[in-house]
Amino acid sequence: MGGRRVYRRLASLEEAIAIIRENVPEPKVEEVSLDGVLGRALAEDVYSEVDVPPFDRSTKDGFAVRAADTYGADEDRPISLRVIGRASAGHPYLGEVGEGEAVEIATGAPIPRGADAVVMVERTHRLGDELMVYRSVTPGENVQSAGGDVRVGETVLTAGSLLGPAEVGILAASGRRRVRVFAKPRVAVGSTGDELREPWEELEYGQIRDVNRYVISAAVRRDGGVPIDLGIVPDDEEEIEGAVRRGLEVADLVIFSGSTSAGAGDVMYRVVDRLGPPGILIHGVAIQPGKPTVVGAARGKLIFGLPGNPTSSLTAYRLLASLAVRRMAGLGESPPGGEVEATAAERIEGDVGRRGFLPVHLVRDSDGGFLAFPVPTGSEAISTLARADGFVEKREGISFLGEGSRITVRLFSPGIRVADLSVVGSHCIGLERLIYILRSETGMKVKFVAVGTTGGFSAVRRGEADLAGVHALDPETGEYNVPYIGRYGLKDKAILVRGYKRRQGLMVPPGNPKGVGGIGDLLRGDLTMINRNPGSGTRMLLDRLLEMEGVDSERAASAIRGYTTGAKSHGAVAAAVRAGLADVGVGIEAAAAAYGLDFIPLAEEWYDLLVRRDRLGKEGVRAAIRILRSGKFAEALESLPGMEVGPETGRVIYPPGLDLTLE
Ligand code: AMP
Ligand code: MG
Repeated sequence: MGGRRVYRRLASLEEAIAIIRENVPEPKVEEVSLDGVLGRALAEDVYSEVDVPPFDRSTKDGFAVRAADTYGADEDRPISLRVIGRASAGHPYLGEVGEGEAVEIATGAPIPRGADAVVMVERTHRLGDELMVYRSVTPGENVQSAGGDVRVGETVLTAGSLLGPAEVGILAASGRRRVRVFAKPRVAVGSTGDELREPWEELEYGQIRDVNRYVISAAVRRDGGVPIDLGIVPDDEEEIEGAVRRGLEVADLVIFSGSTSAGAGDVMYRVVDRLGPPGILIHGVAIQPGKPTVVGAARGKLIFGLPGNPTSSLTAYRLLASLAVRRMAGLGESPPGGEVEATAAERIEGDVGRRGFLPVHLVRDSDGGFLAFPVPTGSEAISTLARADGFVEKREGISFLGEGSRITVRLFSPGIRVADLSVVGSHCIGLERLIYILRSETGMKVKFVAVGTTGGFSAVRRGEADLAGVHALDPETGEYNVPYIGRYGLKDKAILVRGYKRRQGLMVPPGNPKGVGGIGDLLRGDLTMINRNPGSGTRMLLDRLLEMEGVDSERAASAIRGYTTGAKSHGAVAAAVRAGLADVGVGIEAAAAAYGLDFIPLAEEWYDLLVRRDRLGKEGVRAAIRILRSGKFAEALESLPGMEVGPETGRVIYPPGLDLTLE
């Protein structure tokens, strides 16, 4: 254990890393058999115990001969030899090849005594026992000599090597049955918080699902460790202390999340300090997010207290805890594929005076490079984690990273492939079907972020989306989508590909208990509705329908209970109606059907694909449009209630006259 600690002031990131390095225990070593070594790091230098190959062997199918017997042979003057036997892999010829003799030999078979070369079968002609040889060979030709690959005692792998399939093969070839590798560190993982429940539990008001234990355990596995579950621990100092003690007993390293902020009464800090010596080593790190992280040690083991917010927790894990786990696993601190170089697609604001880490969404541009888009953060557990691929560092004292700066993005999941296609826009079950076909037929990785129709227009404008599903009704003309292309400044930047028709309407509980008949009923006064988020195409449609009834959105807000709510998807609206939280919602028929609701049709609309022009060369974009045009998609779509393709499906409807060929 090192003696350094930073007490009652924030440690810099470098200080924190240095203290963790000083205190991380040496990796343990264990001996395992070959079938258990994949992904582990070798803890010894491995020398071959055998010659590889163990005997001289043929590298060709042909005939083993004495080279001298073939001298002078060519196409016009073949030499005749007598075939005296055969050798194949695993079945040596045990006799000796004498002058004027040959043995038929297969690749991998031992060269019989007396022979010193192999004539390829293509250079011979055999008739019974007689062999005509049409080409001479030199001694050693087509023969791999014993030890020619690896000799006894030669180093084949050095300590620290990561063992992949090829390395396992090398170990097998060199005669090893068991090897010494670094033991997988046992990492106890727990969550603290009175509000936390297991993912499968029913939630009461005020409760949320535990995300961090699952995220951190998965990250620990990725880093070569074995997570040991300490469960959810309530916000009680004694219980937390008991759980950390349990962790110290069963594991080599302990990681908790939650209860680290000053607001939470600094519980982790007090518990860890009591468990020393040395107790607390780091009490807060000058990074954002991740500032309330505490690091301590007891009984020669490190203890981490990570922040509770899931994105902060994962960021702090990657910056601080990951290196401890990886070092103990003998894997080296930075995972392969842990970082990618990218271009800031937008200006990224910094906070002068602290070291900020900002989640970003990576998108491939048409040249295969990466563009990084900052992901808006709040305390959302899911949307940030779903949208962000990693994070970038904003260095202290630097007020912003300009658009176009080259930046390094640290990936949340090292080694993962960045999406081949980025879809950010309106959500639709039909588009989900399309993406499913795309994924299963091409193996491409698709990222789909649902932000609504107007969010789709701006994501295409920013370049965060290669394409977006959109359904924006123009109140003036009654036309879908095309009028918005100009309004969003996309005239030269995007094309619009005709998608498919969807039926929109009112969703009501089965049997329509409140007798809802049409849009006018929303104003009845006895109904509670669930609305969609502002900026969604469905909310735009509702507003247009209300306007046709002479109701503007201001009046709607006061006259319709629930008008100001903002569920983010059709499914969320349907679920709210199903659960009795609302009497009525607006959305697509397919979502109503999926939740077993009754449906009152209001309008048919076009759900189109808005595609960025400079991404038309991307294979993912082309494949998406190809699939949109396919019969397979039409069939999958039309199995959904209220959805159908039309004669124009897959055609470019903006700009007019553009013909897009994809083959
Ligand atoms: P804390 O660090 O305990 O003050 O928590 C900060 C925020 O993160 C609060 O909103 C917590 O509800 C939330 N949070 C804490 N732990 C978890 C967890 N394991 N999973 C999801 N959210 C959490
Ligand atoms: Mg808490």
